[in-house]
Amino acid sequence: MKKINFYSGPSILPQEILDGCKAAIDDFAGMGLSILEISHRAKPFVDVMDGARALVKELMGLGDDYEVLYLQGGASTQFYMIPYNLLDTNDTAGYIDTGTWAHGALNEAKLFGNVHVIATSQLTNYDHIPKQWDMGDRRPHYIHITTNNTIYGTQWTNHDIKILREETDILIGDMSSEIFSRDFDYSLFDVIYAGAQKNMGVAGATVVIIKKSILGKVHREIPKMIDYRVQIENGSMKNTPSVFAVYVSYLTLQWIKKQGLQNMYSANIIRAQKLYEAIDGSKIFVGNVAKGDRSMMNVCFTMKDKNLDPQFSAFAKERGIVGIEGHRSVGGFRASMYNAMPESGVDVLIQAMKDFEATKN
Ligand SMILES: *Cc1c(COP(=O)(O)O)cnc(C)c1O
Repeated sequence: MKKINFYSGPSILPQEILDGCKAAIDDFAGMGLSILEISHRAKPFVDVMDGARALVKELMGLGDDYEVLYLQGGASTQFYMIPYNLLDTNDTAGYIDTGTWAHGALNEAKLFGNVHVIATSQLTNYDHIPKQWDMGDRRPHYIHITTNNTIYGTQWTNHDIKILREETDILIGDMSSEIFSRDFDYSLFDVIYAGAQKNMGVAGATVVIIKKSILGKVHREIPKMIDYRVQIENGSMKNTPSVFAVYVSYLTLQWIKKQGLQNMYSANIIRAQKLYEAIDGSKIFVGNVAKGDRSMMNVCFTMKDKNLDPQFSAFAKERGIVGIEGHRSVGGFRASMYNAMPESGVDVLIQAMKDFEATKN
């Protein structure tokens, strides 16, 4: 029986995308070859690459002032590629520290220029999105945020992002664990990046959306492979791209388009509300982040009695639920509910929580 997959990433994919992958492994685009054995310069694959890049822009409602790249090295490589390309040695970048990934990003930026930490929630183990910002002595050259904090289960609201936007000319968002989960104004950002393995495909491809006008301003030399301008000139094919991962991402984008981003957003809200209601209504489970900052994608919760954690894990596993254990730095539980999670999957989890609680009365 197919398990109900709550893993945080790599993560759940819609069945029709898995079917599309199988078909392409047998015979890609009628070429008589598997997608795993074709040249990346083959016309059908170039069409996939161009199609995926165009679809990202279309779904985000972005114009030709933006470019879309498919790169490798994961979101983690963007932690240094961004300052390498955008931050001069004497410039200062502002970072908001909302978790492990945000912290990793700001540490990498220190290798290239000055980093000013505008706000951090580290002291309370990242249980909220800071609302008090200290912008420092001079306007930061750019501000970087992690819009959804995968490990802790917090997420920036549209409202807070809009306010922050006023503080900077260049806003950068790591959207790895929420990209295409909400229908909002993506043009608030000048750079958006995401590893594909959470909400838009499989590991091996990283999407970067970048406003062209911000490039070419730093004074240092940039190695070709990590120079955004070189990657743009080469259509993300300066070297061999991750062909299969880009293909899966293309299928995912088409699937998102078919569902409609707005519908996807509504479905994400409904699923998250249901699960948070179940947590709030429970006597044994408890949410562990500020209510106004709760993530729609990664719902974190703990048990009042931590000793019961292994019992509930086993209980859930018997019902086909997998991947709900929290990250080791937080403990407890985390249900990652990316776009591909059906509402019925969440219902099974909620029922398991209720039934488990009943055994404890
Ligand atoms: C998973 C994740 C990363 C790391 O992604 P890689 O592709 O493994 O480098 C970075 N940021 C966020 C928000 C994540 O969820």
